Amino acid sequence: MTAEIIDGKAFAASLRTKVAAQVSLLAADSHPDGALQPGLAVVLVGEDPASQVYVRNKARQTQEVGMRSFEHRLEATTGQAELLSLVERLNRDPAVHGILVQLPLPAQIDAAAVINAIDPAKDVDGFHILNAGRLATGQDALVPCTPLGCLMMLQARFGDLSGQHAVVLGRSNIVGKPMAQLLLAANCTVTVAHSRSRDLPAICREADILVAAVGRPRMVAADWIKPGATVIDVGINRLEPEAPGGKGWLVGDVDFEAASRVAAAITPVPGGVGPMTIACLLANTLTAACRASGRAAPDLQ
Ligand code: NDP
Repeated sequence: MTAEIIDGKAFAASLRTKVAAQVSLLAADSHPDGALQPGLAVVLVGEDPASQVYVRNKARQTQEVGMRSFEHRLEATTGQAELLSLVERLNRDPAVHGILVQLPLPAQIDAAAVINAIDPAKDVDGFHILNAGRLATGQDALVPCTPLGCLMMLQARFGDLSGQHAVVLGRSNIVGKPMAQLLLAANCTVTVAHSRSRDLPAICREADILVAAVGRPRMVAADWIKPGATVIDVGINRLEPEAPGGKGWLVGDVDFEAASRVAAAITPVPGGVGPMTIACLLANTLTAACRASGRAAPDLQ
């Protein structure tokens, strides 16, 4: 079997087109409160090179769909109080509908305190404890972007996910746990595995849908995959160049070449889950802006 490649780039481009169309409608809207331009504020503390690339991409794509982008770059030595006061200011700013504080934060800052200081209605990363609680209890929430992107791709493939056995490898707050909650809400039977789980290959072989989010290059081997399964590879792992001065490259948590011969469908790395993450951030910002202005959030499926 040769797996179908789930093209995250194409999914993301289509989602951005839908978001941009909604943003244009809002700009011409005759709502009593007037037209609306969604705005996303991104806060970067320090100079982590990967974070700088993410923040640049987020700002560019935000503008490309017609939203306002606000960038706040702070020194790596910034203290907690200063960061919290910026978050407070953004919470009060009516032009800002979404706030994203780029992780990881420097060691002197308590990331949970900062995330929980964001107005939950502007928490477009979906990491605030209130949004996490709403997701876990089946209430309307802003949902973390990476698992939301994975769910959208799965729903496009399967339609109804009811009864599928989904195995989520990884239990982080930003990927594994919300992914499991979303799949459960979509009526999958969900198994969550992690570093203390016994016999991971056997657990994974039970999966109709396998979502790998562990951050271990090519850990998931072909014989961990049930023939015909759908594999979503969230991992982004940078491998060192083979020769000095050469270029490093990115691989996922799944051995893509080998897994492609067993699975029915698989996301590549790069070009799978990654592009959907930013597209979902834009979708969440649109949702937050609509709700803040008393409009219904559009259905972007
Ligand atoms: P974390 O490091 O926060 O969590 C990793 C999870 O994997 C933990 O639950 C850990 O278990 C589990 N784990 C680690 N090693 C093993 C192992 N050997 N066997 C079984 N389980 C293991 O990572 P994230 O969730 O933040 O990210 C996971 C991956 O996804 C990374 O590669 C990251 O770069 C990528 N990522 C990609 C995004 C995208 O846009 N495509 C966005 C976010 C992340 P335990 O809890 O027991 O320690």
